[in-house]
Amino acid sequence: MIKAVFFDFVGTLLSKEYEDITHQNIIKEVLRDVKAEKADPMKVWEEYEILTSEKFKEFAGKPYKPIRLLEEEIVQELAKKYNFELSPKFWEIHLKMHQEYVKLYDEAVETLKALKTKGYHVGLITDSDNDYLKAQLEALGILELFDSITTSEEAGFYKPHPRIFELALEKANVKGEEAIYVGDNPLKDCVGARQVDMVSVLLDKKGNKKELWRECEFIIGDLREVLVIIEELNGQ
Ligand code: CA
Repeated sequence: MIKAVFFDFVGTLLSKEYEDITHQNIIKEVLRDVKAEKADPMKVWEEYEILTSEKFKEFAGKPYKPIRLLEEEIVQELAKKYNFELSPKFWEIHLKMHQEYVKLYDEAVETLKALKTKGYHVGLITDSDNDYLKAQLEALGILELFDSITTSEEAGFYKPHPRIFELALEKANVKGEEAIYVGDNPLKDCVGARQVDMVSVLLDKKGNKKELWRECEFIIGDLREVLVIIEELNGQ
């Protein structure tokens, strides 16, 4: 019997396209702040994406280190290469741009509300610093839609470490097999959820993660399909 539904944040509830726009604006602001007119923001951004993705792969499953520090190290590296000063306001800019530009997938709020109305525990399990996540949830006006929020800062580990999933289950007071985890990263989200017996659901909007579909029990292209999966599992 499924009693709880947990979601990943970036790329699952939060639109990946707008996340890219947000990051481009962070880089633009950072460069503007230190008057680095010579550096090409798009070029710096492209490299920023490559470095962040490498950094997150390196930290997968590892003990938590603040994302603020990981990001500062990356921008420090870019600053050295493209010859600009790291703005002391970097994290402030980072938070501000996220508050301004992030956007949810169209069907996200509708899905969260429908699950809540049906009485399911609705939670968030995400690799994030607490301040960073809270700033975004408040800006999006969805903080109150979650019964529980579990971050890697709180768990002390990054996904797919089981601790972050276990902590979320404890908060909802349910067993793994009574919960679903919806994410967009097969190796972090599906693998992590399955380790604690949660039902793993992959959101693959563009269908470009087929090589890793085997890591997940259900594949969806739209968040609303989660409701159908639960009805099926609960035999309704
Ligand atoms: Ca994600």
